Amino acid sequence: MSENTPVYDYVVIGGGTAGSVIASRLTENPDVTVAVIEGGPSDVGRDDVLTLRRWMGLLGGELDYDYPTTEQPRGNSHIRHSRARVLGGCSSHNTLIAFKPLPSDWDEWEAAGARGWGAVPMEAYYARLLNNIVPVDAKDRNAIARDFVDAAHQALGVPRIEGFNREPFTEGAGFFDLAYHPEDNKRSSASVAYLHPVMDERPNLTILLETWAHRLELDGTRARGVHVRRADGEELLVRARREVVLCAGAVDSPRLLLHSGIGPKADLDALGIPVVHDLPGVGENLLDHPESVIVWETEGPIPENSAMDSDAGLFVRRDPAHPGPDLMFHFYQIPFTDNPERLGYERPPHGVSMTPNIPKPRSRGRLYLTSADPAVKPALDFRYFTDEDDHDGRTLVDGIRIAREIARTEPLAGWLRREVAPGPHLTGDEELSEYARKVAHTVYHPAGTCRMGDASDELAVVDPRLRVRGLDGLRIADASVFPTMPAVNPMIGVLMVGEKAVDLLGGEA
Ligand SMILES: Cc1cc2nc3c(=O)[nH]c(=O)nc-3n(C[C@H](O)[C@H](O)[C@H](O)COP(=O)(O)OP(=O)(O)OC[C@H]3O[C@@H](n4cnc5c(N)ncnc54)[C@H](O)[C@@H]3O)c2cc1C
Repeated sequence: MSENTPVYDYVVIGGGTAGSVIASRLTENPDVTVAVIEGGPSDVGRDDVLTLRRWMGLLGGELDYDYPTTEQPRGNSHIRHSRARVLGGCSSHNTLIAFKPLPSDWDEWEAAGARGWGAVPMEAYYARLLNNIVPVDAKDRNAIARDFVDAAHQALGVPRIEGFNREPFTEGAGFFDLAYHPEDNKRSSASVAYLHPVMDERPNLTILLETWAHRLELDGTRARGVHVRRADGEELLVRARREVVLCAGAVDSPRLLLHSGIGPKADLDALGIPVVHDLPGVGENLLDHPESVIVWETEGPIPENSAMDSDAGLFVRRDPAHPGPDLMFHFYQIPFTDNPERLGYERPPHGVSMTPNIPKPRSRGRLYLTSADPAVKPALDFRYFTDEDDHDGRTLVDGIRIAREIARTEPLAGWLRREVAPGPHLTGDEELSEYARKVAHTVYHPAGTCRMGDASDELAVVDPRLRVRGLDGLRIADASVFPTMPAVNPMIGVLMVGEKAVDLLGGEA
């Protein structure tokens, strides 16, 4: 260990989506010092990262931690979870679809024990976001995506929505809002919106790039800092005078807790990791938004223009008693056959896809370590499609049927030559379910592994003030604290967690 142990007021672990917000906001006060420990490099000047439409090129590359899933007996065992290793985190990798969580999503959190996180108080945090959130620009609206929206409206009677964030909705089709700059297709990620304007100007903000946090430093039950390894191999203890804020995301936040001896005692004992604090919920409640895919060949090439190749979507509410949408679709202007090809399907020369997605999945997974070596990736067992009533599997089957209805409807029908996958011969519930589950993919929304809850929730990891239960000086703020999954894409929810975390930290400083 180096003699050099720098001290800051706050140590933020992970300069990702939530971490960028927190580091930027805390250092607005020139008297507060913050160190950000970020495993990846900077995104500044990197066109491959900053250009939204290049997002697919990042998957599986040098900026991707790329986590496998465990065997999924009822799902697709080949799913890989991209997690970004770069400043801005997954907001530097993702498609930047920007949905304010629905009021019913926040109210569900409040009901789950997250006191103070209901829809009414959370509204103010959306208003604070610095990201440029705008509807897909007119020049990026592809003709076939427009016709998908019209066909969905015709076939299902759902409203056409212009601006999904304007008011709460239960169903509707339209172009998404995105966090981007349409004039040059540049990201308005967390790093671009929160860190780039200030990172060279604030002496009180230190960003340690290419630096990996591998163990928290605890003094009894108080977090004092974190042990990190720099790119050149140097080991360093970075100390926090006030608090350590863990923002490493839904995979790496529980992973770091577990390697620090904070987690289910029996599991830690079995791996020989000394138990510092028995916290049974760490790694439990692993959530995701899985989806399946239906692919059509088009009559010929489709126009090229797009923001990021999946610019429009659809929400459906099958059950009128449900508080929000219970089925969602992304519309991809590409034939997305990566998973169907494994079952023998071919990629057509030109095509489009609809992807039925489960807004409120009921299956719950689990993240756990398989080794005491911090370099070994954790195991992610999503237990896809294992809920008792098969709500999740049935949602995909309904989705395929609804997608076919839309595909039969003009103005979309005239574009489509044939259904490639699963193919019109597959019509029965069982066979559709089997296909839908085996070709399922993720839209990369893992969450919930350090869930927030009240004192009665034995599996809660943080309290409603984001403090790790039973410890001092340690909070978590990222997608891992989600008690339940929002019905919509989660990034805006994560940014809002970041904004609220700043209030909670400030309130106690
Ligand atoms: C390909 C893809 C597409 C997506 N599309 C959308 C979308 O369109 N809309 C949407 O709402 N959501 C989308 N998501 C999900 C969304 O991006 C994430 O839910 C959200 O960004 C997670 O934020 P976070 O702060 O929890 O974690 P992250 O943003 O992942 O931040 C974690 C940060 O911590 C760093 N880190 C991790 N461990 C360590 C460690 N031990 N030491 C140091 N640093 C560490 C990482 O390098 C990273 O920068 C997508 C995700 C992906 C990957």
